[in-house]
Amino acid sequence: MSRVLVVNSGSSSLKYAVVDADSGDTMADGIVERIGEGEIPDHAAALQVVFDELADDMAGLVAVGHRVVHGGPDLYEPTLVDDALVAKLVELSSLAPLHNPPALLGIEVARRALPGLPHIAVFDTAYFHDLPPAAATYAIDRDIATRWNIRRYGFHGTSHRYVSERAAVFLGAPLDSVRQIVLHLGNGASASAIDGGRPVDTSMGLTPMEGLVMGTRSGDIDPGVITYLWRTAKMSVEDIESMLNRRAGMLGLGGEIDFRVVRERIESGDASAQLAYDVYIHRLRKYIGAYLAVLGSVDVITFTAGVGENDTVVRRDALSGMSALGIELDEQLNVEPSKAARRISAVSSRTTVLVIPTDEELAIARACARLVSELR
Ligand code: ADP
Repeated sequence: MSRVLVVNSGSSSLKYAVVDADSGDTMADGIVERIGEGEIPDHAAALQVVFDELADDMAGLVAVGHRVVHGGPDLYEPTLVDDALVAKLVELSSLAPLHNPPALLGIEVARRALPGLPHIAVFDTAYFHDLPPAAATYAIDRDIATRWNIRRYGFHGTSHRYVSERAAVFLGAPLDSVRQIVLHLGNGASASAIDGGRPVDTSMGLTPMEGLVMGTRSGDIDPGVITYLWRTAKMSVEDIESMLNRRAGMLGLGGEIDFRVVRERIESGDASAQLAYDVYIHRLRKYIGAYLAVLGSVDVITFTAGVGENDTVVRRDALSGMSALGIELDEQLNVEPSKAARRISAVSSRTTVLVIPTDEELAIARACARLVSELR
C-alpha cells in the first residue's frame, strides 16, 4: 500500500486527496475554501481542517505530495522537500508571484504538522522542461532572456502527461508511436502538442497567462496592450497583472466563468456571453490548427478537465467543419454522459477524438510513491 496525501495549495483554497498510488483509489478528497476569511484565517488552519476531515485516512501515509506550479529553470523532477529546496522555492516566487507563494505556505505548514513523512514537490512545469528550443524560446533579446530566466515553461504538465499516456493506452498503441493534441480545459486552460510521448509545444509560457482564453485569464495578448495601459491609461503594473489574471478571460468578457451558466445566458440572448464564448472557441480552434501544423498529422485529440470533460457544445464547436483535416466527431457519442475515458470521434475520422478525465492527484501520488521507493 502506497498512500499519499496530495496537497494543492492555492491563495484562498487548499485541495487535498489521499490516494493509493498502487490501486489508484482515492480514499478521501476535498477542498477547503475561503482561506483568510473568518473561520479559516490561514493555511495552517486550513490544514487542520483537512486533518480533522481525514482522521483515519491519515494512517499509513508514505508521503505528502505538493503540487507546485512553477519549477523555474532547474526544478523538474519530483523533489524531496528540504530546507534547501524551500529556499529555492522562495527564490522562484519572483518568477511566479501569484502561484508559488501559496504552495510554499502549504509546504511549510504541512512539514511542521507531519515532520515524520517525506514531503515531495511535483512541478506543473516539469513535463515541458525539454520543449524543443524553437517552441520554448521567446523572440526577445537573448541576454535579457538568459539573465531573467525568461522562456516558455508550460503548465498543467502533470495533466498533459497523464492524459497523453492514457490516450495511448486507450488506443492500444505505444506512446512513442502516437502524435497527439491534448486540450486541458478547466478554469485554467492549456493545449499541448505531443509527438511520440515528447511534448513539442504547449500554449502556456513564462506564466500560466499565455495561450487559450481561460476562466479569468486573457491568454494570448499583444504585449503592446500592457505598455499602452501602463503608459496611457496610467494603470499600475499590479493592476494590469491582476486584470489579466483575475478579471479577464470569460469573466472579463461575459461576467461568468462557469460554462453551464455561460450556456444559459447565451440561450437567453445575452450578447456578451455569446461574444465571450465565440472568442474562447476561436482561440481554441486556432491552437488546434497550429498544433496540427506543428505535428504534421495527428492521431488523437483528447479533451480533459472540467470544461473538456463535460461541455459537449465546446467539444463540438472546437472541432466542427474539420472533416477535410481528418477530424470528425460522432454527434451521438459526443453527447452521451459518461465519467469514463471514451472515444467521441466518428468511425470515419482519421484522427481519434477522446475524452479522458484527468487525475492530477493520482499522477502526483504515483510520482511520490516512485520517489519514496527509490529513496528506500
Ligand atoms: P480547475 O482549473 O479549477 O481545476 P476544473 O478543471 O475543475 O477547473 O474546471 C472547472 C470548470 O469546468 C467550471 O468553471 C465549469 O466552467 C466547467 N464545468 C464543470 N462541470 C461542467 C459541466 N457539467 N458542464 C459544463 N462545464 C462544466
